[in-house]
Formats: sequence, structure tokens, C-alpha cells
Amino acid sequence: MSPSTVTYEGSCLCGRIRIQITGLPVSAGYCHCKTCRTWHAAPVNAYATWPNEAVRITEGEELLENYQDRRSNRHWCRHCGSGMLNRLAKERTVVYAMVLADSGYVHEASCHIHCDEAVLDLQDGIPKYPGWPKSEPIDEPRRTGMRPTETT
Ligand SMILES: [Zn+2]
Ligand SMILES: [Zn+2]
Repeated sequence: MSPSTVTYEGSCLCGRIRIQITGLPVSAGYCHCKTCRTWHAAPVNAYATWPNEAVRITEGEELLENYQDRRSNRHWCRHCGSGMLNRLAKERTVVYAMVLADSGYVHEASCHIHCDEAVLDLQDGIPKYPGWPKSEPIDEPRRTGMRPTETT
């Protein structure tokens, strides 16, 4: 199968909403921003992006609720609460990557973004950026203000 014909499928927790995505992601990473943290109730959000036309809701679209703010337009299942995707007012859709994990999707993250807002200091060797990756990676001490735990 060529990269452009790879298909991923996923669903919300209750299974009423199904999503299908064609092609490899344009980007994949981990977002540490406060809005992701608050919305997901998690220290970090695994995300991947595709062109809008690559992402299709194949079942249960009428159950999608959304919340829009300055940064995001998040969609979730009204019945079970699972976060599904974030439709930015651009050409790309952000998908909460873990909804695809059962269909062979492998999260090959290339960056950590919004690390200036991070609360969890992950040490996985993947470049860390204060905002989106167009800025320079930030060095270790400046990154989050966090230091490795000292052991005695
Ligand atoms: Zn659901
Ligand atoms: Zn975020």
C-alpha cells in the first residue's frame, strides 16, 4: 500500500462515532498547551494533523459536539465524551491520535509544542518548541523551568 492510500479508522469510546482518515499525517507530535491540558484533563496531548479532506466522519456525525475558542475548535462525542478532533480554521484538521491506535496507526512524533506551558518534563529526545515548530527549539534549562529530580 502506498503512503497516500494508507487508511486509518477509529471511534469514540462508545463506538457511535466513527472516523476514517486517508494518507499519512502531515505532522504528529505532543502538545503541552494549557488549553489541551485542561480540555483533555491530561498533562500532554498526542496529536496528528491531516488535510481537511483526508478526514471523514463515517458514522455518528450528528453526535459531535464542539467547543471553539481562540486557539481551537474541539469536537467530542456527546454520548461518551471522547475527544475526536480539532477543526482549526485553516486547511488542516488535528486528530486526537489515540482514537486511531487500534487501526495500525503509529504515533511517530516529531516534536513537542507549546513547551513554554508544559507541566510534564518528558525526556524522549524529540525536539521541544515554545510554540509551533516554526520557532527555534528551546534548550533544556530554559524549556520549562523544571529540573531533573535530585536523588540523594
Ligand atoms: Zn461516543
Ligand atoms: Zn495544545
